[in-house]
Amino acid sequence: MGKPSYHEERGLAIHFLLDVFSRFGYGANGITRLAYSESDKLAKRQFIQLCENEGMNVRVDDAGNVIARRAGVGIEKCAVACGSHLDSVINAGSYDGVLGVLAGLEVVRMLNRKNIKTKYPIEVIAFTCEESTRFGVSTIGSKAMVGLLDMNIITGLTDKTGISFEEAVRLQAFDLARFPQAHRSSDDLKAFIELHIEQGPVLEQKKKQIGVVGSIAAPTRYRLIISGEAGHSGTTTMQLRKDALVGAAEVILAVEKIATLEQHFYSVGTVGSLHVYPNSVNTIPGKVELIYEFRSNDCATKHQLNLNLLSIVNDIADRRKLTVESQLLSDESPIELNSFIGNIIKESCEKRDISFLEMASGAGHDAMNMAKLCPTGMIFVPSVRGISHQPGEFTEPFDIEAGVDILYDTMLRLAEPI
Ligand SMILES: [Zn+2]
Repeated sequence: MGKPSYHEERGLAIHFLLDVFSRFGYGANGITRLAYSESDKLAKRQFIQLCENEGMNVRVDDAGNVIARRAGVGIEKCAVACGSHLDSVINAGSYDGVLGVLAGLEVVRMLNRKNIKTKYPIEVIAFTCEESTRFGVSTIGSKAMVGLLDMNIITGLTDKTGISFEEAVRLQAFDLARFPQAHRSSDDLKAFIELHIEQGPVLEQKKKQIGVVGSIAAPTRYRLIISGEAGHSGTTTMQLRKDALVGAAEVILAVEKIATLEQHFYSVGTVGSLHVYPNSVNTIPGKVELIYEFRSNDCATKHQLNLNLLSIVNDIADRRKLTVESQLLSDESPIELNSFIGNIIKESCEKRDISFLEMASGAGHDAMNMAKLCPTGMIFVPSVRGISHQPGEFTEPFDIEAGVDILYDTMLRLAEPI
């Protein structure tokens, strides 16, 4: 008799449950399960039910995070937690966030089936409002849990339909004034581990099954205000123009070129926001405001890219007789994750003969906030063709199973089997 396969041993629960959760917010163009929406509420309710079926104690905190707990033997505090989020972007796929939540549930199912008890409690957390899609601010649930929420900023948020954040949470029976109560103390948690899809192509390209995330990159963002001279589009000769928009066009191309040339640290650069003034069909654009960002796995490289761009921007301004004002919007250093947990993840990969790659995350996650509360690790599984935030998002079933196995080993080691 050979080793039992994953399916013989555990059934198809996680694959089946990914399908079940895809129903919440399902539409013709993908899944839209925005934070604090009805479909988000239904997904949370389904998750609570599944956790209770596994004998877990479930509470929803004052921000809307769902915290499901499997008791430890003798120890009340210092839970070993894992989890991710259930909300999605507009027209999303089935894996972003949900996979990490269901993988945690699967770990608990496996412990229950094997009747393994642990010294420390185990928690599976479904964070609320991870995506910035609805209100423009990301990871609100984990920020509240860690005490990083700026209530002045949150109070002023509205979604595209004009519903304020306060109103949206009230419609889901939460009280914004009580959000700070979601703050937990650091001795509540011994560790936190987030399993997540990579959302990029690196694991697939390098033919590795698991990403051991060492750090989470934060973007460097600048606003450039490019000023030229507005003028009549019919009477101003080409030689006399100071067109701010064509200057901006050169800047956009430079951002693309600079990032494309640096691929050793997987650098990326984007201009995602552009405002043209006066934005009139027969007026030469006199002013443009644009926001660009660079992200890179290496902090020094990211700064070098930015210096390169600013020097090109100066050249463009001189040549085109434009003035450029730059405003730094954000420039955070990457968040370092816990190397002790990283080593446990790597040891588990080696023991199971699963290939892995140490890497950085280019996208933000709840784990970056949790790292400020307790020792935190992250496990990536591959995204086919690096696709994410759209319905084509896909992770191979055997990669999901490898991820669950590694999460299981890591959680069990930290929670100490009895
Ligand atoms: Zn996510």
